[in-house]
Amino acid sequence: MKLFPNKKEKSYSIIVGCGRLGANLAGALYDKGANVLIIDNNKESFRKLSPSFGGISLLGDATDFFVLNESDIKNATAVVAVTNNDNTNILVAQIAKELFHIPHVIARLYDPERECVYHELGIDTICPAVLSAKEVDRILNMGEVTEEAI
Ligand code: AMP
Repeated sequence: MKLFPNKKEKSYSIIVGCGRLGANLAGALYDKGANVLIIDNNKESFRKLSPSFGGISLLGDATDFFVLNESDIKNATAVVAVTNNDNTNILVAQIAKELFHIPHVIARLYDPERECVYHELGIDTICPAVLSAKEVDRILNMGEVTEEAI
């Protein structure tokens, strides 16, 4: 079954985990015109999606091969794994990269110490702790510049 009949003309992104980040990301990609499918193993999580979200919600455990097949992962252009579990995100990212050769694969990692290992596997990662530290540093330095300028 084709989930998105016009998939050839558009990018097809799969978001794994419909938490605060996943739901926002799914909405933003959908608004930009992408085909979007979002997976979560808790049906309550889909309530975080914006009412205007017109993509597909798939209930299931994303580490389950049957669920990934149902998501039509083989035709995805991007897979973004943003569950609240680093191991789940990495497992899904590795399956997407190595078994399905998805061009863009990103995993969220809570533990910054593991980041370099996954870069070696060719998986892009985002680490909220590292990003937050950089942003705090940027804001603090902005303050310094402003004070100097006065
Ligand atoms: P948050 O912590 O707000 O980013 O939410 C993370 C989301 O990931 C929650 O909605 C969880 O239900 C979801 N989640 C956790 N493990 C899995 C899994 N194995 N498959 C699909 N969704 C998951």
